[in-house]
Amino acid sequence: MGKLDGRVVIVTGAARGQGEQEARLFRAEGAEVVVADVLDDRGKAVAEEIGALYVHLDVGEEADWQAAVAAARTAYGRLDGLVNNAGILRFNTLTDTPLDEFMQVVRVNQVGCFLGIKSVAAALTEAGGGTIVNTASYTGLTGMAAVGTYTATKHAVLGLTRVAALELAGAGIRVNAVCPGAIDTAMTNPALLDPEPERDPERERDPERERDAETERDRSSERLYRRLVPLGRIGRPEEVARLALFLTSRDSSYITGQPFVIDGGWLAGVSVV
Ligand code: NAD
Repeated sequence: MGKLDGRVVIVTGAARGQGEQEARLFRAEGAEVVVADVLDDRGKAVAEEIGALYVHLDVGEEADWQAAVAAARTAYGRLDGLVNNAGILRFNTLTDTPLDEFMQVVRVNQVGCFLGIKSVAAALTEAGGGTIVNTASYTGLTGMAAVGTYTATKHAVLGLTRVAALELAGAGIRVNAVCPGAIDTAMTNPALLDPEPERDPERERDPERERDAETERDRSSERLYRRLVPLGRIGRPEEVARLALFLTSRDSSYITGQPFVIDGGWLAGVSVV
């Protein structure tokens, strides 16, 4: 028996990172999964490997949402779960942030989450209830310099979570949020964010030098997380997936409207010794 037997769940941003791990774990726990992303090749490959349905879904586009919900119902006859996981990050001080950049992050992180809730609510109600898990962040609960736009949108995701929980409880729909700290995905590793990183012909000619540079990057990021995070390491996407599973399964049947921090203790406070 899987924890999600008989359930049908859309996971956005599921082509890689935390969304991919959520899709894999949910499938392993018996759910029918709809892998949704804008990275079509990668998303299709994940879906094919785990026996899921892939849909192209730009979370900022309402028409894409309607098509994704319809595709889930056509393929599996119902829909009773959503993980609003898609998100983007931009580094800038607030005063240096161009309005276009601010709106781009709002469109994906905040509008995407709003449209997700709005688009699945009727199908979940018709299914007799369901679950929505929104991906906020550590920065949904505290400030972080240089990621102000992202921080603002993740605070908004918590607001949406609480209001949706209140408004949808009567339909048997529970809405919660995960608040990850630093998690080891493309988002925390800018080198992985760029599909075609700038080529450095010098390094390409010298693979040993390239390996040394990579090792140094790994070591310095290890040192950073050892210093910042009480548990002394960056989190793994599989760990966030297990929290999303808890909030999607009956194990959390009396929980709604809450943020769940998963950050290795980072938000617990500062250490002065
Ligand atoms: P990631 O960059 O690997 O994954 C993000 C996914 O979202 C990608 O597959 C991307 O293609 C998809 N996406 C981006 N824009 C989209 C759009 N408009 N429509 C549909 N899909 C889109 O990073 P991740 O760490 O796996 O991020 C997952 C979520 O976790 C995000 O909401 C992110 O803000 C949040 N988060 C990440 C961290 C971290 O340290 N990695 C910490 C806290 C919260």
